[in-house]
Amino acid sequence: MNGLMMHYPLTIDRILARAERNFPEQEIVSRLADGSIHRYTYGEFYTRTLKLMQALRKLGVKPGDRVATFAWNSYRHMELYFAVPALGAVLHTLNIRLFPEQLVYIVNHAEDALIFCDKSLMKPLADLEPQFKTVKQFIVMDDLSPDQGLKLKGITDYESLIAAENAVAEFPAFDENTAAGMCYTSGTTGEPKGVLYSHRSVFLHAMGISMIDSLAVSARDVILPVVPMIHVMSWGIPFAACLTGAKPVYPGNQLIGKPIADLIEQEKVTLAAGVPTIWNVLLQHLKKEKTDISSIRAMVVGGSAAPPAMIEAYQKEHGVQILHAWGMTETSPLGTVANLKRHMSSWSAEDQLKQRSKQGAFVPLVEARIVDDAGNPLAWDGKNSGELQVKGPWIAASYYKPENKEANAAFTADGWFGTGDVARVDEHGFMEITDRKKDLIKTRGEWLSSVEMENAAMAFPDVLEAAVVGRPDDVRGEAAVLFLTPKPEKKDTLDLKALHAFLSEKFAHWQVPKLTDMYVIEAIPKTSVGKFDKKVLRKRL
Ligand code: AMP
Repeated sequence: MNGLMMHYPLTIDRILARAERNFPEQEIVSRLADGSIHRYTYGEFYTRTLKLMQALRKLGVKPGDRVATFAWNSYRHMELYFAVPALGAVLHTLNIRLFPEQLVYIVNHAEDALIFCDKSLMKPLADLEPQFKTVKQFIVMDDLSPDQGLKLKGITDYESLIAAENAVAEFPAFDENTAAGMCYTSGTTGEPKGVLYSHRSVFLHAMGISMIDSLAVSARDVILPVVPMIHVMSWGIPFAACLTGAKPVYPGNQLIGKPIADLIEQEKVTLAAGVPTIWNVLLQHLKKEKTDISSIRAMVVGGSAAPPAMIEAYQKEHGVQILHAWGMTETSPLGTVANLKRHMSSWSAEDQLKQRSKQGAFVPLVEARIVDDAGNPLAWDGKNSGELQVKGPWIAASYYKPENKEANAAFTADGWFGTGDVARVDEHGFMEITDRKKDLIKTRGEWLSSVEMENAAMAFPDVLEAAVVGRPDDVRGEAAVLFLTPKPEKKDTLDLKALHAFLSEKFAHWQVPKLTDMYVIEAIPKTSVGKFDKKVLRKRL
């Protein structure tokens, strides 16, 4: 029909070209393995990325080929984030914390042609190299870590590769629904499942996370993604930064406590993003060593539930706002953010904290419903709990080459993705996860949310981390078992009786774990992406 808008494919090369044209002088900062800081501009980033595209072509990379990365957050990883998709190939980020057999499975299942790896991460790849069936070559990025004298098949140095090339002459054109990126998610059962992101989904998601009621990424931001670039595209932050002109600060391989605090202070970070554990450890560090983190306007916490005690501590002790967000590998990831609405500004501090501790409101373009066991939608009344289902332009429609039929069972016939999270939604549209389906504990016929119990335990002043799992119990049906890690200075003095009394104020007495069901352990085991690994805890039981 005449008179309509232009056809403008939403492809990642458009984001890249925008950076060069509109803010070539803006900085990109990375910390390397020796602690030194690397700085350059979007202008230099652009030139190097175009040379990298040419180099990839010479290495034989064709549209649709999978090019893997095994690397920390850095400027080189960002170059790959753009060069690979801009060629029409697929950027496959490999999780550096995977168990060896999972890594082998994933590389072979994705049929990766090349692997780009940081020098500091060569060892696990060198050990597994003979088992990779399709990898033709490794390209090593020298992150200034000590040389371990390791050798890999067809090894090439990243810098020499780029230095030898001219910039690619033009961006190839293709459909916006072409695959751009890929990330595997470890299921609770079965093999890991692959999720493919398209150019269109990445582009729209970058716009989505930049909206004011999402993370409000802007040209005034200095943005620190502690969330790894090998996990759900670093929550889309590199793309949103490049779209808006925000200055990214990549933390490299030191993610715990002091190095993060120092980066925030030195670079005057305004927006930081990561899982709760990272921010919990930072909070402890700040008690010991005063650091100025007042530049931060928001700290995004997702991947696991943000404990209300932590949200409150950042607010009270540092004047820092925590933005609680929810998402999944399958949802690119952003689904909800707990930004308060206008009418909530008159609420009491306590009620505001309660609201901000929920996972939050659904961002534009993410549609949601909660359903009962028979699949019937439930009312958003803050009381009904049911499985959360979502749909939208950045939600997966299926898994990549699923190994079995069950893998795709989460995708309903009527076009929804079942998240496996159990949630309720209040009358303001704020979603609150009450548990993963399998994580609910039924005690005396009543559902107990392990998440609520964990949050309550982590609000006890001496507790650093707490994880709750169920165990069969003759009387209660199931009983809650609490695994605890005390704060370092309370290692020898954590008073379990006092904790029991503390929990008894909030829960019915049959819900509170017995003293004999409380285990103080050195560290709560974590999955490869830093969540509490309840499978391991259940095994320990
Ligand atoms: P992944 O695909 O590894 O990122 O895991 C996604 C899952 O992490 C979700 O289905 C939730 O169970 C959990 N998750 C993510 N964000 C949150 C959050 N803010 N609170 C509670 N659980 C979360």
